[in-house]
Amino acid sequence: MAKKWVYLFTEIEEVEKQVGGVWDAVRSLLGGKGANLFEMTRIGLPVPPGFTVTTEACNAYLAAGGKFPEGMWEQEVAAMKATEKVTGKGFGDPNNPLLVSCRSGSKESMPGMMDTVLNIGLNDITVERLAKLTDNPRFAWDAYRRLIEGFGKVVLDIPDTSFEHALHTLKDKVGAKMDFDLTPDQLQGLAAEYKAIVKKHKGFEFPQDPYEQLRLATEAVFRSWNGKRAVDYRKHEGIPDTLGTAVNIVTMVFGNMGSTSGTGVAFTRNPSTGEKAVYGEYLINAQGEDVVAGIRTPEKVARMAQDLPEAYAEFAKICQILENHYKNMQDVEFTVERGKLWMLQTRNGKRTAAAAIKIAVDMVNEGVITKKDAVLRVSPNDVDSLLHPQFDAAAKKVAAKEGKRLGVGVNASPGAAVGRAYFDADTCEEKAKEGPVIMVRQFTKPDDVHGMIAAKGILTSEGGATSHAAVVARQFGRPCVVGAASIKIDMESRSMTADGVTVKEGEWISVDGSTGEAFVGQIPTVAPKFEEQTDLLTLLDWADEIAAEPGSRQPGKSHSPSRGLQIWANADYPADARRARNFGAKGIGLTRTEHMFFEVERLPIVQRMILAKDSASRTAALDELLPYQRKDFDGLFEAMTGLPVIIRLIDPPLHEFMPDEEKLLEEVIEMRLKGETEGLAEKESLLADIRNLHESNPMMGMRGVRLSIMMPEIVEMQVRAIFEAACDVAQRGFDPHAEVMIPLTGTINELKWVQPRLERIAAAVQAEKGQKVDYKFGTMIEIPRAAVTAAEIATLAEFFSFGTNDLTQMTFGYSRDDAERNFLLKYVEEGILPFNPFQTIDREGVGRLMETCVEEGRKARPDLEVGICGEHGGDPSSIEWCHLIGNNYVSCSPFRVPVARLAAAQAAVKHWGK
Ligand code: ADP
Ligand code: MG
Ligand code: MG
Repeated sequence: MAKKWVYLFTEIEEVEKQVGGVWDAVRSLLGGKGANLFEMTRIGLPVPPGFTVTTEACNAYLAAGGKFPEGMWEQEVAAMKATEKVTGKGFGDPNNPLLVSCRSGSKESMPGMMDTVLNIGLNDITVERLAKLTDNPRFAWDAYRRLIEGFGKVVLDIPDTSFEHALHTLKDKVGAKMDFDLTPDQLQGLAAEYKAIVKKHKGFEFPQDPYEQLRLATEAVFRSWNGKRAVDYRKHEGIPDTLGTAVNIVTMVFGNMGSTSGTGVAFTRNPSTGEKAVYGEYLINAQGEDVVAGIRTPEKVARMAQDLPEAYAEFAKICQILENHYKNMQDVEFTVERGKLWMLQTRNGKRTAAAAIKIAVDMVNEGVITKKDAVLRVSPNDVDSLLHPQFDAAAKKVAAKEGKRLGVGVNASPGAAVGRAYFDADTCEEKAKEGPVIMVRQFTKPDDVHGMIAAKGILTSEGGATSHAAVVARQFGRPCVVGAASIKIDMESRSMTADGVTVKEGEWISVDGSTGEAFVGQIPTVAPKFEEQTDLLTLLDWADEIAAEPGSRQPGKSHSPSRGLQIWANADYPADARRARNFGAKGIGLTRTEHMFFEVERLPIVQRMILAKDSASRTAALDELLPYQRKDFDGLFEAMTGLPVIIRLIDPPLHEFMPDEEKLLEEVIEMRLKGETEGLAEKESLLADIRNLHESNPMMGMRGVRLSIMMPEIVEMQVRAIFEAACDVAQRGFDPHAEVMIPLTGTINELKWVQPRLERIAAAVQAEKGQKVDYKFGTMIEIPRAAVTAAEIATLAEFFSFGTNDLTQMTFGYSRDDAERNFLLKYVEEGILPFNPFQTIDREGVGRLMETCVEEGRKARPDLEVGICGEHGGDPSSIEWCHLIGNNYVSCSPFRVPVARLAAAQAAVKHWGK
């Protein structure tokens, strides 16, 4: 049998047979729009009859340099005949003309990026007939002139200004304010003028043969896949160029046939807040594009309940059916033709982060989806954005009082944006390189998208909640206000005015996408309160539950932890620890003790300690430091009572604590030149000491455990401070869990040298204090040799913590600071590295080392605790890897904890029981 390129909407079973029944494959073949038209047809919803030419046909067409694959056109014609049969009309039949739309639609939604042509099938003859049949010449001529215009723009590449100019000239001439003020005769005249425009630009007549129209429109949709807009969009969104677009041919239904007709777009829930109520806009007596184009101001869709009660009741029912069917919030297009409702499109609706979370939680509570579904519905970025700043309410009130409010429009995409106002996309893109910009426009079109991406926020004076600006802004997470009608933009003087305030292009403005307000000037922002975001808290609790379930364990891996992957945090101070705990951290994975050495009153003591000529004077300095350190740890243990706290012993090379060598040298030279002698000898000797500490490769020099072996007094003091604090805290009734971490171990012999000394101190302190505390000694795994010899190292170390920054650095042999500055970017651009390995764990190399290390380590010590504390701890892909190799926890910055909790649960669900 010849290859099938075209399927009728009723042929979903055939499609499924063709692709093996997988929905994802159905979508690949038919495109998202097409697949859902088939699916809505299958479940009995009112979809106008039609058919889809597959994405495979598109790819074949493009690959052949613009030639339909064999048999495709014949199949398209046959499908048209079948459609004529079910509709009882004829394509090009002067007695009862069938009209269709020709719509693009790829697997991934690319709103407004490709093209659609409406009213195909009209010509000089059928238009007359349509006028008679409908008894509505205004409608018929309007449809015809729209076809010529749409066809001219999309298929024939005639600049849209040509048509717009003709329309404006006519409206001015006859004194019509709106398009629909034009009379049938005037519209007929307009159609004639449009045809003349086509002739003038192309040298041939507007095609009268409907099949010619269909063929050319099909080709145009195929070609639009490679249009600049579409290509740019795919690049930004990471959508593969290989998908191709399908072509959907849909029987036309008309919302512009009088007061019992209308058309609209709606979300089954509020895409901004997630509230469960149909949200959208519609226009009585209008055609589809009118709503999105922002030409007339649409009504809220709920108004339809009064205007068209029966159609509305059915519409509301269908919204519920669709939600239950797709188990997700839907974004739909519909048209009512003389009281009869038609569904033209459905897809999973784009939504803000807040809405995504609320909808996911609500749908679990409604029994529509499971907790696991809910966790997968929300992206880590959504969680992140909810922790970002919003405008300070008090500051906004003051600004409003001072007359700085420019206006209020529709709150289309929430969040606070502050930037300089620019009035076109190219300028926005240009100026965004210098600082934050806000894009201000009357309304936006697809060719504005690059400016919208560059902008921090978007403000328009026209359009509603489903206008292009609103949809795109929500998708890219840009705060956005649309339809702020008080704002008048003057492109001549490049300024805008609102309520007497004038803002010149380049001035600062603030846009509050949550409330719909816009202000002149910069309004300060505040971070939202985590504990008040109840839906997020619920979702993250579910995430923790899921990650801790036995099903999340990796079977076949003896080392898989029993309580799932936990999220811990890196925190150096009690305040950080409290924040981390508040964000849901189940432990502290890294406390960097050396940070505490840098405080003003301590640094001189630290320097004295470092420069001490003998052990006795070193110990004397350390005795002074001990109370400070004890106090640091005391606060941490108290804040984290009941949970583990990993404290890393001193790690950096000592020169980091000393004055800058070059600066000191300059001072010495200057003093010598000026002949100053007072204090010169001290400075000279200090300089000599610092020079003694100099190393060519300090990051690979005397630091970490090496330093502890060369100068054991420092870590002895630190361990004493840790245990004194732990005992004190325990005696006050708290429950400390101290984990002492030795950095930069490369061989077991290092641990053999240092660890027993430290354990003796731990025991001694507990004896002195008459208090037992729970503790562990362990090591960081940062050196490939340590990872490889994990079985040996685990005989002494009770826990491992991957320091993935150093481990990546040493495994690749890249010095991190130099690499990121010099060549890493180029490596990623050239595809030599798929991504920056300092951001995302390199699974094949560094990751493989980690995997073996865990495996070997747990062979020696089955209950070995393993985690990571490098910057990768907050990165979702790295978290997934840690889940797969059986880590107990990942530790990240406190602010990243909520994101990491979600990512851990997602990894668990994705690899459930696999
Ligand atoms: P987009 O992907 O840009 O939304 P669509 O293919 O969905 O493009 O169509 C553009 C507009 O035309 C939409 O408002 C849609 O509802 C309307 N439309 C498309 N096909 C028909 C049809 N057969 N009858 C009535 N309106 C249609
Ligand atoms: Mg659409
Ligand atoms: Mg390190």
